[in-house]
Amino acid sequence: MKIQILGSGGGEGYPALFCGCAHCVAARKAGGKSLRSLSQTLIDGKLLIDLPPDTHMHFMQRGINFGGLEHVLVTHVHDDHYCPNLLSTRGTDFAPALDFEKLNVYGNADVQRLFNGYYELFPIRDEIRKNIVFHTLKPFESVKIDGYKVTPLKANHAPEQTALNYIIDDGKTALLYLLDSGFPTDETLGFIKNYPRKFGCVLMDGTMGCNYYVYHMNFAQNKQLKKELLESGAVEKDAEFGVMHITHNHAGLHEEIKEYFKDVGIAVAYDGMVIKIEN
Ligand SMILES: [Zn+2]
Ligand SMILES: [Zn+2]
Ligand SMILES: [Zn+2]
Repeated sequence: MKIQILGSGGGEGYPALFCGCAHCVAARKAGGKSLRSLSQTLIDGKLLIDLPPDTHMHFMQRGINFGGLEHVLVTHVHDDHYCPNLLSTRGTDFAPALDFEKLNVYGNADVQRLFNGYYELFPIRDEIRKNIVFHTLKPFESVKIDGYKVTPLKANHAPEQTALNYIIDDGKTALLYLLDSGFPTDETLGFIKNYPRKFGCVLMDGTMGCNYYVYHMNFAQNKQLKKELLESGAVEKDAEFGVMHITHNHAGLHEEIKEYFKDVGIAVAYDGMVIKIEN
């Protein structure tokens, strides 16, 4: 499985669009891995996780044609993860050479609701709208998508909606994608520990850095979760762990965060990072 991290930043991006705090000033100066766009991940060049406003930039940077993708998983409808107005040019003379007629969008019920609400106000062409197909997912109910078994998990995040995390299982290995989420609840953690395949990779929400908030994890919780997953046997012994969705409010430059995790085998994700899990 090839896991391509297109964006690794928290909700405002890092540096944040409007912010002149010390971390944002330092990131603009340092550049490189300390510049974090909004979080988005592509699996095997074909299964996309989330649709942030940075999608167009990500796809230009990495040479990806969105018309060549058929499936998008949406974690939740916070606007750093889901921007349905990006879909308004999918078809007709805006995109006359689509590889696939339909784009399947998977997520909670609010994913379709937000799309419908937006396009009630600002209608798009029917030929575009009819080719975007929504699938409402429920926590812990697996679906088959293009050869993957995808299992939505109940995220500890955004209680006003059913925020989802995902298990993506290709039949040989599995990715545990835990963002956005606070430390998983007992219900979710129990499901993860009993999942029939060991995880080869775990990507975690590290939004809170050295601070605390219930609906995002911090770095100490990232370490704790790795320890628990290893002890319970839920992950492969050599599983890759990564932390992403990093924000300017709670963490410093890339190198400083790397230092924090250096002895525990947790990678600090950055834009453009690729993780390959050998099966
Ligand atoms: Zn977010
Ligand atoms: Zn800032
Ligand atoms: Zn969120």
